[in-house]
Amino acid sequence: MNLSTQITSLDELVFDNRFIKELPADPETSNNRRQVFDACYSFVPPTPVAHPQRVAYSREVAHTLDLSERLCKSDDFTEMFAGNRLSAGMQAYATCYGGHQFGNWAGQLGDGRAINLGDVINRRGERWALQLKGAGPTPYSRNADGLAVLRSSVREFLCSEAMYHLGVPTTRALSLMITGESVVRDMFYDGNPEAELGAVVCRVAPSFTRFGHFQIFSARQDIKRLKQLADYTIRTDFPHLPTPSPAVYLSWFEEICRRTADMIVHWQRVGFVHGVMNTDNMSILGLTIDYGPYGWLENFDLNWTPNTTDASERRYRYGNQPAIAFWNLGQLANAIYPLLGTQNLASLQAALNVYKATFEQGWQAMMADKLGLKAFDAATDHALCTELFSLLQSVETDMTIFYRQLAMLTLNAGADDEELMRPLTAAYYVPEQLTPAYLTQLGVWLRGYIKRVQADALPDDVRRKCMNAVNPKYVLRNYLAQLAIDKANQHDFSMVDELLELLRNPYDEQPDKEAYAAKRPDWARQRAGCSMLSCSS
Ligand code: AMP
Ligand code: MG
Repeated sequence: MNLSTQITSLDELVFDNRFIKELPADPETSNNRRQVFDACYSFVPPTPVAHPQRVAYSREVAHTLDLSERLCKSDDFTEMFAGNRLSAGMQAYATCYGGHQFGNWAGQLGDGRAINLGDVINRRGERWALQLKGAGPTPYSRNADGLAVLRSSVREFLCSEAMYHLGVPTTRALSLMITGESVVRDMFYDGNPEAELGAVVCRVAPSFTRFGHFQIFSARQDIKRLKQLADYTIRTDFPHLPTPSPAVYLSWFEEICRRTADMIVHWQRVGFVHGVMNTDNMSILGLTIDYGPYGWLENFDLNWTPNTTDASERRYRYGNQPAIAFWNLGQLANAIYPLLGTQNLASLQAALNVYKATFEQGWQAMMADKLGLKAFDAATDHALCTELFSLLQSVETDMTIFYRQLAMLTLNAGADDEELMRPLTAAYYVPEQLTPAYLTQLGVWLRGYIKRVQADALPDDVRRKCMNAVNPKYVLRNYLAQLAIDKANQHDFSMVDELLELLRNPYDEQPDKEAYAAKRPDWARQRAGCSMLSCSS
């Protein structure tokens, strides 16, 4: 790295703040909670905190922003990204958006505890929006405090970086600070409030615009702002598209469909369950955004959701994520429909189908990769996958370990069942579930799979390498995040750093870190934070 390209003072960060320059502001500047009309955002400063302390920062994000490691370790950095100081070019604001929560229109939501600091233009000319999460109330905070606790902030910080290294489109996290103040949360909404450590994450993304930003104007029939925001978004975040027109709105929407499909394929690939796929949590750029009660599949289960708030309906369960993304895109289509006019309704519907086609194609390619096949052959591979999912689901099988170990299979259909299955034994949680009937079924599938792989005639080492490049060895297992949180709550941040380091190379064997690839221990099966999470954060 050329050190001369790095900046040495945070005041050297260059901001262009196009969002607030080009879009209408709320004229009211007091920080009281309200409905904000005719505006995309309200000016609001972060609330200063008592004793900020750095927990961690991401060196890759720092590098993207041209920040030197030394700067990231400075007090100035800690003060700024905990909300105590703004740099010369920063202008702090919270944006207005609405959304469908759990399928119901919720009206105005907005950045209730996110405060944007502006858009940095880095030395490579890239735009990166900075946003503090948990830096105090805004006009959009409704009846909440605008704050975040360390528990949920560790989860957001680590997971956004882990997702990036896994190759999943995501918002990023620059830093994680504790504020030196406590925040009271009733974690399970059961009348047991407790004081927790307050924290602030600085999130970074090309844009934080959500489906809900368009929905709010459409719901209010404010077509003027709807068009302003859409045109701004196309110009700024989709600069390859031509000047906005009805045809361009359609291409724009198609691109959002493709990006969303791509993101969901990745979620399904790595076993990530978002937990709160409300339309206000859907990024216009197809980035994973808002790491709340998300979770990672341990035992493969299409019906699993980590979110206790959704435990009865399971709207946002793993297997339903592709359908929900489609539903959410349908809501976005409804929102932008006034820009297109009735004559384009059929085209908008056709554009929505781009999601389905892109998802299906992406899913097939992804499954072929996971299974080490050259390409997905619809004639045989749909059945292969359906049977595999049914097997994985019928006994508790660790998804991550299973796919990783599948690459180790000896391609010898003549081997006896025991030998064939040996690499997979590490993936099972409950040995008693491995009944003779199950093992017979698994044996049949494995032999069919071997035949299918042999038809491709890829050399063993090539196949293994391909599989290991898409089947991670290390993911942010729910219990690992919780162990890091338990320590962090005792002011020991070492495990946050350790996991950040580990998850930089999720596809590599890291022999000294083998323990972090282990399946969920029994103690974590029912522990809060490990298998059950609420929206409280
Ligand atoms: P979420 O479920 O985290 O996506 O949040 C939904 C809405 O609630 C968003 O408008 C958030 O800004 C808002 N919100 C969540 N937590 C808080 C909080 N502690 N203070 C203020 N607003 C919040
Ligand atoms: Mg949200």
